[in-house]
Amino acid sequence: MRPPAALEQARFPEAILDVLRRLSAAGHRSWLVGGAVRDLLLHRPRAATDFDVATPATPRQVMALFRRVIPTGIDHGTVTVLVGDEKVEVTTFRGEGDYVDGRRPASVTFLAELEADLARRDFTMNAMAYDPLQADFRDPFDGRVDMSRRRIRAVGEPAARFGEDGLRAMRAVRFAAQLGYRLDPATRAAIPGALEVVRKVSVERVAEELSRLVLAAHAGPALLLLRRTGLLGVVLPAIAALPLSAYRHAASVVRHAPAEPALRLAALLHGVGPEEASKIVFGLRLPRRLSDEVGTLLRAYACPAARHPAALPDAPADIRRWLARTGPQRVPAVFELVSAELRTLSPAHRAAVAPEVSRARAAIDAELAAAPPLATGDLALDGRAVMSLLGEGPGPHVGEALHHLLDRVLEDPAQNTREALAAELRRWWAGRTGAL
Ligand code: ATP
Ligand code: MG
Repeated sequence: MRPPAALEQARFPEAILDVLRRLSAAGHRSWLVGGAVRDLLLHRPRAATDFDVATPATPRQVMALFRRVIPTGIDHGTVTVLVGDEKVEVTTFRGEGDYVDGRRPASVTFLAELEADLARRDFTMNAMAYDPLQADFRDPFDGRVDMSRRRIRAVGEPAARFGEDGLRAMRAVRFAAQLGYRLDPATRAAIPGALEVVRKVSVERVAEELSRLVLAAHAGPALLLLRRTGLLGVVLPAIAALPLSAYRHAASVVRHAPAEPALRLAALLHGVGPEEASKIVFGLRLPRRLSDEVGTLLRAYACPAARHPAALPDAPADIRRWLARTGPQRVPAVFELVSAELRTLSPAHRAAVAPEVSRARAAIDAELAAAPPLATGDLALDGRAVMSLLGEGPGPHVGEALHHLLDRVLEDPAQNTREALAAELRRWWAGRTGAL
């Protein structure tokens, strides 16, 4: 079939063409498949490392043809071929019965094999194939028609396809978030019946889809779709339990927040509070650093829609304590979240709240400009000095002393001298040992 212009005119990385040529020369005509074909049709940029090749050659044949290969997923028929600095994933056609090991019925024709492979793919837009060497295009499920209608449609019978693999329902909503497409009505209608299968998917894979969803350009509407299909109840039950209005608000803040994982997750999870939000991120097995970051960001401010922005600190000592807790490096991120919140308010509400947010920011910036001591490492006394002044060895009291001194210095930075801190340390120690 004659390829669409976007494919005919596309320039392919030399590494890809090299792999296709060598396979073809050995009698295995092979095809570009999946996301690369879809994205080329959309003129979406795609990393050279992210092209998938489907081939009739068995993994063993592929490995014999190329010098540098990694048997990435040999059970699934996938071999990674290294060409220069590039990696190309080459996967043996999969079809009915999965004959990864080369015991293929001789009667199966070549194009029937390609079609069987495409039929196993999730959505019509992901089930197209292109052979750039012969400029040949295959689209047996009308993926291009669905794309022109901006529709995500399951290949085959949606309920059966979602029932086979619980990840597909999540992928449908994630692709909707990335492409701004709708789900075809029958595809969408099949999701609520597949939730039990979604529940069986590993938390890591669900988290991967969810992370990509919240970072995507159309995350706002996709998050509403996630809730309406019932998927939210499976992947984020605590968030699904929030009232619809609170969830709509969160989805809208996500949409206005910069596409950065901690910011978008904080926006999404705001409604359950910092501790619970942080636990949810940790429970998704996302990096510890990310769950901590979400908690810290959410502790730093109260939502201006719900509360007064005076929940941001304004007295200088409060600002310094807030900076010590939040970390000065997070100030821009906190205000990104606050301004995303502001953008969800009605113009009148926003006009009422915005000046106070600006004042809070100016006061925080002014305090930062004075470079006050904000951490125990900034104190005029260090742990060693504490031990020698107290005539005590190491132990938990050293950290406690430093934290006590920091607290005083946050209250009044002028106290950050050796003399003043030494005097305060003695007072504190006398009180502490006296109390024992
Ligand atoms: P992207 O890499 O941009 O997320 P992609 O379409 O390349 O999108 P991959 O997960 O890399 O997605 O998968 C490559 C191809 O494999 C898909 O285009 C699709 O044809 C097929 N595929 C992936 N996951 C599934 C699945 N769960 N069920 C059926 N087919 C799938
Ligand atoms: Mg891919």
